[in-house]
Amino acid sequence: MHTRMKTISKLTSDVGATMIEREIPEIGDDDILVKTLAVSVCGTDVHIYEYNRWAKSRIRLPQIMGHELAGQVVKLGKNVTSVNLGDIVSAETHIVCGECEFCKSGNAHICINTSILGVDRDGAFSEYVAIPAKNAWINNPDIDPAYLCVQEPLGNAIHTVLSGATQGKSFAIVGCGPIGVMAVDVAKAVGASKVFAIDLNDYRLDLAKKLGADVCLNPKTQDVISEVLNQTDGLGVDVVCEMSGSGIAMNQAFKYLKKGGRMSILGLPDHPFTIDVANDIVFKGVTVNGITGRRIMETWQQGKELIDAGKLHLETAVTHILPFEDFKQAFDLMISGNCGKIVLRVGEKEER
Ligand SMILES: [Zn+2]
Ligand SMILES: [Zn+2]
Repeated sequence: MHTRMKTISKLTSDVGATMIEREIPEIGDDDILVKTLAVSVCGTDVHIYEYNRWAKSRIRLPQIMGHELAGQVVKLGKNVTSVNLGDIVSAETHIVCGECEFCKSGNAHICINTSILGVDRDGAFSEYVAIPAKNAWINNPDIDPAYLCVQEPLGNAIHTVLSGATQGKSFAIVGCGPIGVMAVDVAKAVGASKVFAIDLNDYRLDLAKKLGADVCLNPKTQDVISEVLNQTDGLGVDVVCEMSGSGIAMNQAFKYLKKGGRMSILGLPDHPFTIDVANDIVFKGVTVNGITGRRIMETWQQGKELIDAGKLHLETAVTHILPFEDFKQAFDLMISGNCGKIVLRVGEKEER
């Protein structure tokens, strides 16, 4: 094996990223080295690429970007028994301590010592990446890695949709970026009665429609509150999956959330905003829950079940598959908003 690898790295505080060679990382006794086959581009990667306020405060330069991956295990640390050489794996990107109160109580997704791949340490936009073996998720090797790498954001969608009852429930998916459109797909797969998709971008609404959304609404041209109420006997939807991070959208969503309903929030507002707690939460008896990451590894198992059962349409949610070298085009597309999930192909599987 050679000692150098191509990476997409963030080197300076300017907008953009650089394809640059770095040393292939050494691995610890509990780690594995993964030869990357495919990666997908996340909104978080765009924040790092643009180097926004959050990225400035969090990212230590230089850093290899990226965290959503599928790859082949090519080296094992000496303590590793849970993964074999040649396995095709994806990675749970939250590296947790296993020792805090939350890890010990089965809530590792809120571990107080979480370190995130591609955020707090070098990531996966790279020909090789080192990860702890306990973070590896072993995949069905017959599935194209271009669809396996998106299981990490798919897990965000699954965690949000499945954080309460789903069967026969009406859903509004607010914000139809890549995770939002996957949430539409998941909601339909797990028995939602009716799915409203809401976004300001018609490309994304069109994609949501292809993935099974029953009603697509654009707040630019439609009165979303009255449309949803009209189509739910005046009662509103049972579940809102908030994926836009917009305070305006969330306040509207509280108005069309049914009494006794559930508001599951994944989207991250970039500043605090006001909510009418008395009228929109207390008197309506609604449940509001915050969704972070994926339940480790319960959400991954749910994703595997849905994929293996052929219930999802990842080939539709992934709208672009590009060569690794064309990363700038991928970021331009992400910034334009006219895309679903974008995948970069990195390396070739080795026959073993
Ligand atoms: Zn991500
Ligand atoms: Zn912990």
